[in-house]
Amino acid sequence: MTPGQAAKKWAKEHPEFTGILLVISHTRKGRGGWGQTTRTNKFFVRDGKSAQRRDAPGRQGFNGVCWACGQIYLKTVLRWAVGPDPQAGEPVPDDELWQSYKGESFVYHEYAQLRACPKCVEEHNLTITFLGLGPVWACPTWARIHPLADGMPVDTNVPHEMLDLR
Ligand SMILES: [Zn+2]
Repeated sequence: MTPGQAAKKWAKEHPEFTGILLVISHTRKGRGGWGQTTRTNKFFVRDGKSAQRRDAPGRQGFNGVCWACGQIYLKTVLRWAVGPDPQAGEPVPDDELWQSYKGESFVYHEYAQLRACPKCVEEHNLTITFLGLGPVWACPTWARIHPLADGMPVDTNVPHEMLDLR
């Protein structure tokens, strides 16, 4: 069974689950099959259906978790978007800076970025960007993940399940 087939079957058996399913697959390698590679395959699951992380044609959209509302989207309707940073112009505390920037002075950028669904783009008046705003290099402003995301960038606010195909 491929990871995709396993995820599909698991999702069907758990129609109440909304979150991320990590499918661990093992492939024998080498002659005699005594080496093994282990791979973690990430699937988004809701309503008894599953979808692997993917981009829309043209790479303008993608599926996954909306960082504003926390909903899972199986279809590639999510976009990078920016919204005004409520703390624009205020000094950035040292503990929010990446390691290599600690000790330097930054102020919050006018805009902060996040991954958002169409509903949240409309509701929070966000502006869709193609590749995200990104940090502004060599500039004393700090474009951060929008506070609407509330820790979502690593998808930690979403339930995770694991399925080992061993
Ligand atoms: Zn949303």
